[in-house]
Amino acid sequence: MILFKKAGEINNYLSQQNKKGIQSGFVPTLGALHAGHLSLIEASKKKNDITICSIFVNPTQFNDPADFEKYPVTIENDIYLLEKAGCDIVFLPSAEEIYPNGTHENFHYDLGYLENILEGKYRPGHFQGVCQVMDHLLKIISPTNLYLGQKDYQQCMVLKRLVEIINLKTNIIISPTLRETDGLAMSSRNMRLSETERKQAVSIFETLSLIKDELNPGNLDNLKQKAIDHLSSKGFKIDYIEIADAATLNTIENWDGSTKLVALCAAFLHEVRLIDNMLL
Ligand code: AMP
Repeated sequence: MILFKKAGEINNYLSQQNKKGIQSGFVPTLGALHAGHLSLIEASKKKNDITICSIFVNPTQFNDPADFEKYPVTIENDIYLLEKAGCDIVFLPSAEEIYPNGTHENFHYDLGYLENILEGKYRPGHFQGVCQVMDHLLKIISPTNLYLGQKDYQQCMVLKRLVEIINLKTNIIISPTLRETDGLAMSSRNMRLSETERKQAVSIFETLSLIKDELNPGNLDNLKQKAIDHLSSKGFKIDYIEIADAATLNTIENWDGSTKLVALCAAFLHEVRLIDNMLL
């Protein structure tokens, strides 16, 4: 596995490879890697000649400075896991490499309504920061295929929009959410949970499963309230639980019985904010 820290060097290397007509797969991450991340590496390896993983805790996508400060960093273990998974290239840039002119660049991505609903509503500026870093990373790497996890459902939609806005040919491939055996979605933030919180955390999966099991055509208000009551009773402070059109993320109040739906949830267990979703 080749490790790059300089944007210019990885860009040169990949430009040479691209001239040979190779296909590349890119897996951007914030690090603290787990099996969910590795499933994206595996998906990329199956389809591409070269797989590139980036590890960069991007400051501009953290609306809460404390969340940024406490984001887990396990870089040596990450490199070990990537090497074992057969990743070809890891890119570990500093903030100066990604933002040579500083993070306060003049930019705005027109994400439309996606920017102000769900994660966008509760994490103002988050998706602009995600687009800012991905704009830089995609231009440095120029991948054939970009691998993303369904775990970050809205982020996948935002990044599809970004690829259109900046007019790239990159394909987006979305992998299913990997879960622990009790159903908890794997997440780097799970490392911050105490033993007791870790046991409580499965309630998010149970709540989404409750929605899936009890879903019926018609008005969804009662089901949504039942889900909110259930998760609150397990000690969570809820940002949102929504049932939405899986294609647009518009909230659905009355289900026609055929529109494809997704249930989405974001909630705090004390300090730690967890998100998850489930196609219904
Ligand atoms: P992150 O490091 O949290 O930014 O995640 C990097 C990529 O891994 C994103 O595309 C995530 O959606 C994806 N990912 C995170 N958790 C999981 C999971 N449990 N299963 C599959 N993909 C995941």
